[in-house]
Amino acid sequence: ETVINRIAAGEVIQRPANALKEMIENSLDAKSTNIQITVKNGGLKYMQIQDNGCGIRKDDFEIVCERFTTSKLKEFEDLNSISTYGFRGEALASISHVAHLTIQSKTTNDKCAYRATFEDGKLKEGPKPTAGNQGTQITVEDLFYNMNVRKRALKSATEEYQKISDVVGKYAIHNAKIGFGLKKFGENNDIRTPPNSTHVDNIRTVYGNTIARELVEFNIENESFKFKAHGFMTNVNYSTKKFTFLLFINHRLVECQSLKKCIDQIYSTYLPKNSHPFMYLSLELNPRNVDVNVHPTKHEVHFLHEDQIVESITTALETKLLGSNN
Ligand code: ADP
Ligand code: MG
Repeated sequence: ETVINRIAAGEVIQRPANALKEMIENSLDAKSTNIQITVKNGGLKYMQIQDNGCGIRKDDFEIVCERFTTSKLKEFEDLNSISTYGFRGEALASISHVAHLTIQSKTTNDKCAYRATFEDGKLKEGPKPTAGNQGTQITVEDLFYNMNVRKRALKSATEEYQKISDVVGKYAIHNAKIGFGLKKFGENNDIRTPPNSTHVDNIRTVYGNTIARELVEFNIENESFKFKAHGFMTNVNYSTKKFTFLLFINHRLVECQSLKKCIDQIYSTYLPKNSHPFMYLSLELNPRNVDVNVHPTKHEVHFLHEDQIVESITTALETKLLGSNN
């Protein structure tokens, strides 16, 4: 049974960056305003995320790593209307099957923090009282220590770190009110965005001023398909070899090839051959119309009326882009 659980967990947790993404989303769900991340060896040796959110109650330590016992699920009578990031209750459980997991947490009501270690979906040690700040600190060590094949299949620590940094940068831009930090253990921060920044501040911090100074803001609202799109795109003075597309649908970092393709096509009319834009787009759709039931590793998202919505966003963006260059 342990082996089967481990294989299933390895499907959910494919690499350090995607484990971290799940943990960032948990911190956001917990209403944190500050999220600090430290890693060693591209996250393979060690990843720690510290937030200042609501914390986990001592009594709940017992169940946080049991599969499908998400505390978020109870709050919703209808799976379709789920708006928080997590809804599957699989992330922490999965991590505990493929790594050494330690959770330390303090709620506002508790006098001290509690700390526990987990293995294979169960409490191993604790929770024991300890000193600690309000919020939650999750430490993941020796990822895939028990899965040699998976471990060997991963890229170098440098590349894994690149993927981590990519995820953190994107969440920092989207959640500009929240402070984010990312560093390698014992070194200075690679990413540091203070709380209450703006999207553009954080685009500048993460992607540089060359992009930040060429941005055009857009705000699209559509009554018939009930969606809102807000974001920033580079004007036609800017171009790169690669389309950098930060897409959040209902605040979750996802991919949508149909939308990406159409947007890239607008620019190909105005930009020199083989050059591409930068875009950050936050799309809010009726949660009922988004396929939330995708597997955690499948970032490609589909939604109801996809063709019409993509068409309508593309048209609005093109109009905006032309207007901004008159
Ligand atoms: P899900 O997010 O789908 O509920 P997870 O496995 O990601 O499942 O997390 C399990 C539970 O652990 C969450 O429902 C939440 O109650 C608790 N939890 C995890 N991370 C945090 C955090 N950073 N702050 C507060 N609670 C947390
Ligand atoms: Mg979660």
